[in-house]
Amino acid sequence: MQKHQPTNSVHRTMCLLYALITVLMLASCLKGSSREQYHSRTQFAMNTLCTVILYGEANPDVHTAVFARIDEIESRMNNFLPDSDISRINAAAGIQPITVHEEVFFMIKRAKYFAEISGGAFDPTIGPLVSLWGVTTENPSVPESGEINNALSFINWNDITLDEEALTVFLNRRGMSLDLGAIAKGYAADEAVALIKAAGVDRAIVDLGGNVFTVGMKDVQTQTPWNVGLRNPFQGKSPHIGIISGGDITVVTSGVDQRYFEEGGVRYHHLFSPFDGYPAQNGLVSVTVTAAVSADADALSTAAFVLGYEKGSALIESYDGAEAIFVFDDKSIRKTSGASFVLRDETFHLVSDEGSLPKVSFALFPFAQQHL
Ligand code: ADP
Ligand code: MG
Repeated sequence: MQKHQPTNSVHRTMCLLYALITVLMLASCLKGSSREQYHSRTQFAMNTLCTVILYGEANPDVHTAVFARIDEIESRMNNFLPDSDISRINAAAGIQPITVHEEVFFMIKRAKYFAEISGGAFDPTIGPLVSLWGVTTENPSVPESGEINNALSFINWNDITLDEEALTVFLNRRGMSLDLGAIAKGYAADEAVALIKAAGVDRAIVDLGGNVFTVGMKDVQTQTPWNVGLRNPFQGKSPHIGIISGGDITVVTSGVDQRYFEEGGVRYHHLFSPFDGYPAQNGLVSVTVTAAVSADADALSTAAFVLGYEKGSALIESYDGAEAIFVFDDKSIRKTSGASFVLRDETFHLVSDEGSLPKVSFALFPFAQQHL
């Protein structure tokens, strides 16, 4: 039995590499305006490397405030930190409601919304499955089917009880646990951008381990947008397979290439189907979502990955302002109708099926909670 997993240090190194590549790539966007100043800071937070690039006059206080805010969000929402609000909710599952910080409450409420519109493909009560598989731990392994069924019995976003007046959260049954890993980084990116704008910085790039948010335009005078590279999910020659352009947009990727282990020649990644309890397997290797709000793009990228291309693209098409790029294991790429993606790596090929996916309400898709 062959086993491999990116250990924390390997994972950190990989993150560093991605961060450096992204920074180089973003810095290269400055060609033609080389006299312009920019200031970059990278720190490890939210279990990944976070880079914040600010343009214009140096103001270290803005960097410090942004990273302090990211740490604050993590201290409230990371279920691996025993004192976080999420850990306190989990410890009280089936016992009592817990009063949480307002922003935690509203993030859980938002997560429930994405669970609802994705028919449960995105589910913030995924915690028991994440622990069972332990993909990002030192000892991941493929569980027995009985263990998987047992974990599945605790996963249901309908069993999160929210009291908006009291700001309390209650998990209805013992054994349930929340995991906001698929949305919290996006929220942190939104908050980082809000702080940056409030500080008067009008052009910046925030990259929280692949959750990218661009502020303003690359060149205000010519209204030239930023170019964000779409990460190559294969270990190919090019770090990026294409370009997404935009100003004030967020670009978020969920993929199988960064957190996984291998057993018996099969790769098991960290994006779980709440329907069968296994890492989602549908031919996709990554889904990248662009939107105006990073928390939305984060949740939608995980949801669309788990749903697979047909249902996933229907969800994105039905969501105002969101677009997506789907990369498949045969190196084909599909995108939603409004996605501004330009392919750069010719070993991939863009499949056009424009018109085949009409704009329909996602509510028309009858997803059942199949695991219940
Ligand atoms: P990453 O964290 O690698 O950027 P995602 O945003 O897609 O990627 O989040 C993946 C994380 O979300 C997992 O590590 C796990 O904690 C959690 N997760 C896994 N499957 C689901 C799911 N179906 N719904 C909600 N959260 C999930
Ligand atoms: Mg996500």
